[in-house]
Amino acid sequence: MPGFELIGEDERRQVQEVLDSGVLMRYGFDGARNGQWKCRELEQRLAARFGARYAHVCSSGTAALSTALAACGVGAGDEVILPPFTFVADLETVLLAGAVPVFAEIDQTLCLDPQSVQKAITPKTRAVLVVHMCGAMAQIDALEDLCRRHHLTLIEDAAQAAGATFQGRTLGTFGKAGCLSFDYVKTITCGEGGALLSDDEETFRLAQAFTDHGHDHLGADRGADQHPHIGTNYRLSELHAAVGVAQLARLDHILDLQRRHKAILKEGLAALGRLEFRTLPDPAGDSATFLSFLLPTENEARQAAKALAAAGVDGCFYWFDNNWHYHRKWDHIKTLVSPGRLPIDRFGYGTNLTKVALPQSDAIMSRTISMLIKLRWTPEQVRDRLARMKSALA
Ligand SMILES: *Cc1c(COP(=O)(O)O)cnc(C)c1O
Repeated sequence: MPGFELIGEDERRQVQEVLDSGVLMRYGFDGARNGQWKCRELEQRLAARFGARYAHVCSSGTAALSTALAACGVGAGDEVILPPFTFVADLETVLLAGAVPVFAEIDQTLCLDPQSVQKAITPKTRAVLVVHMCGAMAQIDALEDLCRRHHLTLIEDAAQAAGATFQGRTLGTFGKAGCLSFDYVKTITCGEGGALLSDDEETFRLAQAFTDHGHDHLGADRGADQHPHIGTNYRLSELHAAVGVAQLARLDHILDLQRRHKAILKEGLAALGRLEFRTLPDPAGDSATFLSFLLPTENEARQAAKALAAAGVDGCFYWFDNNWHYHRKWDHIKTLVSPGRLPIDRFGYGTNLTKVALPQSDAIMSRTISMLIKLRWTPEQVRDRLARMKSALA
């Protein structure tokens, strides 16, 4: 997953171009900037590479999620269905939008189970927030179809799945809005950054205004812009965008390395006969940032995680106990502990997050281990890793 393994001369040259112009902000200063528009360039390249009509970059993946919710009209009291295996950002942004998170179960794709989503729909449901976890896709066709039938807005969090596809279509382009992250540990990084993808002109228009205090960006002079609605500052700087331009150019190479390393490890582990792998609705579209496998029982998964660590196999995650990615350790969120009172706490909206029970998700995640696929492994290191894993898991 980490593009930081490949930061080099191209990133340096891109940043130097911005520093040479002296204009570090994405808007205005047209005369001084010497033709450098790195945020715009990154947006054009993202739209072309991902196959979206519009791309808008912003300061983080979390900012992209907040922007997507706002641009899709999600607000106070609206219910948003989302998975319990995700990143805390998805919960945070829903709560801070004043909306109500409603969990549905995941299935063995490690992403939302369409049947469980259907059961979670109420008259207050406004959107379904699909999170493509650990490099690969949810059953996005079924979820897209479900949202269409129920007139719900589909939003995609593809922060962990940059470049992954389903039947040739890039993840992040199925929903009304799709979110990417370029934080330091993502597939491509610019230190901190994110992007919103959309084919919908109105969503894009609202998004680009929302991330810049509601500026409509219609005139040549930003200072004279109208402000049709409230926004905030989620702008990306030109310095960050410059790194992003260089990293995006590396995406195909990164995907190729990940896929080659993962294929060797997966084939070798399959021979053990003891593991199941995460279900991939379209294996060819997997970005291969992680290899995720399931042991027969929770007990065996816990033992396997310990054995892998003891064998020096780094980069393995037992998510069931993880406090960033799985709901079981989110007490501060479930009890709505916040510096200031949240709308859901003030108004209730009939939801009690402490009562959430997700037996199907627990049964899957308690058996799942994911291993991060690195880019700079040598062929010998991949072989050595496979040998250690096989003996640890035998
Ligand atoms: C990283 C991540 C985010 C947030 O992105 P940031 O750029 O770190 O704010 C959101 N969702 C998922 C699934 C992530 O992995």
